[in-house]
Amino acid sequence: MELECAAQHYDWGKKGMTSSVAQLIKSSSPEVKIDDDKPYAELWMGTHPNGPSFIKTTKESLAEFVSKESNSHILGDKVTEIFGNTLPFLFKVLSVDKALSIQAHPAKDHAAELHKLFPAIYKDPNHKPELAIALTPFQALCGFRPTQEICYHLKSIPELVALCGDQDVVNDFLNHCQDNDDAKTHLKKCFKALLTYATTDGNSNIVAQQLSNFLNRLSQMDNDSREKLNGNLFERLHKDFPGDIGCFGIYFFNYITLEPGEALYLGPNVPHAYLFGDCIECMACSDNVVRAGLTPKFKDVPTLIEMLSYESQSYDKFKPERLNEFTETFKPPIKDFAVNKIEVTGSCNFIPVNSPSILIIIHGSAKITDKVYRRGSVLFIAANVELTVTNLDEDKTLIFQACANV
Ligand code: ZN
Repeated sequence: MELECAAQHYDWGKKGMTSSVAQLIKSSSPEVKIDDDKPYAELWMGTHPNGPSFIKTTKESLAEFVSKESNSHILGDKVTEIFGNTLPFLFKVLSVDKALSIQAHPAKDHAAELHKLFPAIYKDPNHKPELAIALTPFQALCGFRPTQEICYHLKSIPELVALCGDQDVVNDFLNHCQDNDDAKTHLKKCFKALLTYATTDGNSNIVAQQLSNFLNRLSQMDNDSREKLNGNLFERLHKDFPGDIGCFGIYFFNYITLEPGEALYLGPNVPHAYLFGDCIECMACSDNVVRAGLTPKFKDVPTLIEMLSYESQSYDKFKPERLNEFTETFKPPIKDFAVNKIEVTGSCNFIPVNSPSILIIIHGSAKITDKVYRRGSVLFIAANVELTVTNLDEDKTLIFQACANV
């Protein structure tokens, strides 16, 4: 069944036809007018109430369709047994022009606890693991850097150290950064001191002043020193988020660029921020985000400090497993979702999956069973259905398929 999906116009999205989201919408539905001045940040494919998908022919919402008892065979036995009559994942395309907030997502038990205590902030009891697969070179911050790198930054940036309040905390960390277990404890204290000081009422002017002092110093550095401190990135973030303590986040977190087809998996408590580029994203159905910076939204510093993983190491990209000559699968260690990347040159039979799935054509066009679908088409497939896909593009058709990982 072909789906009609909702675009989200968050202000960090790429504008008009520069956005992959807008391009995909325009290609599959040429009648839709794309507004050049409007950001097209996300395309949502699934049943989430904030951006539900509809079945194109009947206009019924997908959420309603899958929740019907008479349709439970469509979800498959495993999914109904574990998740009930719901789709356990939300599938997205993201087109990022400006950083999203530095954030982390709670583990399942913690999410349930936060939801019980603060239902207005943490709106559901579910965890929110995320998988991002790059469509264009995709920049992100992810996990704490190796401690030696953080030490180098603290030694090179007195403006940052000044915002940690208690200087003993910084010195303790610098003295212990070679020793693995101790380093973690001291990194936590140091990061806590920074975020607590920076978000204390009345300190926002001091934060803005130190950021601007550092900006001035960067502008006078030679190219080599600037590069060592990711000067261009810092300036870009500060232009978009002036006075925001999150700009200094790049000195604590790994800065990575994914090439198209490379992926990032974010389990619970891993600090991260998407900075720029287009990607496919899949996540468990949840809204639970704890934010730290690069955002005007609410920052829950005490919760974040306690929950974060202070594992500090360079970040490993998430590797797919090859299933056959057309298909690679990204299978995270959770049941909520997995994503297949399928490249069809001639004709192929899709490997049937034991859960419902949603697929999107990202490049090319294809005949699927007996109908032709263009780039941007989104289809909902029932569990255990066999599909034959024939490429109609002169090159190849690229399809991403999200399913449950059961
Ligand atoms: Zn996230």
